[in-house]
Amino acid sequence: LDSAGNYNISIIHTNDIHAHLDQFRATAGTDCDPRYECAGGYSRIKTKVDQLRKGAKDSLLFSIGDEFQGTLFYSYYGGEKIAETMNVLGYDAMTLGNHEFDGGDDKLAAFLANLTFPVVSANIVTNHTGISSILKPYHIFPQHSLAVIGVTTPVTKGTSSAGPGTNFLDPIEVIQATVDAIKTKEKITKIVAITHLGYEQDIELASKTRGIHLIMGGHSHTLVGSMPGAAGPYPTIQKNLDGEDVFVVTAYRWGEYIGYLDIAFDPAGRIAAYTGGPIRLTNTTAQDPIMQAKVDAWRAPFDAFAKEIVGSTTGLLDQSGCQSGECTFGNLISDVMYDYRIKSGGNVDGAFTNAGGIRASISAGNITRGDILTAFPFGNAIVDLSFTGKELWDMFEGIVSKVNSAGSAVTSFVQVSQSISITYDPSKPVGSRLVSLKVSDPLQAVDLTKTYTLATIDFLATGGDYFLTTPKTDFIVLDKLDEVLTAYVQEHSPITPAITGRITKLSSK
Ligand code: ATP
Ligand code: ZN
Repeated sequence: LDSAGNYNISIIHTNDIHAHLDQFRATAGTDCDPRYECAGGYSRIKTKVDQLRKGAKDSLLFSIGDEFQGTLFYSYYGGEKIAETMNVLGYDAMTLGNHEFDGGDDKLAAFLANLTFPVVSANIVTNHTGISSILKPYHIFPQHSLAVIGVTTPVTKGTSSAGPGTNFLDPIEVIQATVDAIKTKEKITKIVAITHLGYEQDIELASKTRGIHLIMGGHSHTLVGSMPGAAGPYPTIQKNLDGEDVFVVTAYRWGEYIGYLDIAFDPAGRIAAYTGGPIRLTNTTAQDPIMQAKVDAWRAPFDAFAKEIVGSTTGLLDQSGCQSGECTFGNLISDVMYDYRIKSGGNVDGAFTNAGGIRASISAGNITRGDILTAFPFGNAIVDLSFTGKELWDMFEGIVSKVNSAGSAVTSFVQVSQSISITYDPSKPVGSRLVSLKVSDPLQAVDLTKTYTLATIDFLATGGDYFLTTPKTDFIVLDKLDEVLTAYVQEHSPITPAITGRITKLSSK
């Protein structure tokens, strides 16, 4: 305690590292290329965290989730090397992001079992004992008489691969109940939240609760404070239900920045004074040599495989436009799925996939195995699904209306093969935006009573992104999407990316 009776502590937070164990090319997000500025990497985080901790009497290091998914370190090792790195860095607590569920509950449980620090999320209810035995709503640091509560975005249920017995409650209600319980049971006033919800949601949370004065967030990859293009200050200060200040902070993504706050908590747990801000980690921060040697050794086994050239493309296979309309990469992958099913004897009328499943673009030139795995990291299998024409109409209506016929918010746009044609009018009311739907080769207006077979990915078949109002259970799992794409690229290079007009958005005047 200082002379005013305040408790001083340094708080460091990271979020959405997305398996960037190694440095990457700043802004471009591709592998580090020494001709350009490189950023991030756990060896830099280690150097900076050690330095900050040396200068602080008391400190806590938090991860706000989405450690999984984004590089081959995750695709190749699952959570194993991430856990090892986080243990070495000495995280004090973590909350779970949506992507921690990408490999299903079992993979997450294996990761959790390897961690040597507490993992908190108050709004996750699960019957998976490998998760429930480790995950706690909050954790108390008795030496600081400080509590940390975690919370995970409820969109996880539809956008990741959590098991059917794993569910996500309303964060605001749960957090308030947890704060109240901590105050009465533990007699603690310093309560902080680590929230994988998104920046806007964090501000809303701050405004609708009482008893928390620091919210460290993630998920939305929001630029704040000194970061160019910042959406808000660091900290963003929001009044809570008691009219007190709540600090909302976040640190963008991939470990390009870490968040840092030196805080004086008053006896009521409010923030009496602070200094700090986001710290950018680039070439000017030395890489911890021991940590970097580990990362280099882990990279070696997949690097040679990843660099193998399988073909080429004459232009950009673009992922960036896939959520708003037809995109070149979406056309290619859907056509590849359709072609694969026709050539393997499937009686399919077309193929579709989710825009959100296409994770990266591939630029003109050579295509490597690493490019393909980075774009399609989920290990999805291709499946055939049968639909009545009516079901197909309803599915595409749901997608263009962004809410399906069961009322669930559809969380991705769609991409389709050349044998599907969609026209929609976004100015029409939700539920009547689809203007025309044609299916089959040659294209024909969909017959609502006929049965169609379409190729897609297992994630969507089982209800992912809420494309299907009723998930299907009766499908056969075929070859893996990344492998089918690799074979296609090997056979058909150079690939010529094209927009063909298969998805038409009518523009209103
Ligand atoms: P963040 O990466 O910070 O969590 P986010 O989750 O909001 O951001 P996305 O990056 O779009 O958003 O990731 C979620 C999307 O990834 C899902 O909506 C879905 O489209 C896609 N996705 C997730 N799991 C799978 C999977 N197994 N197969 C195919 N697509 C998937
Ligand atoms: Zn997230």
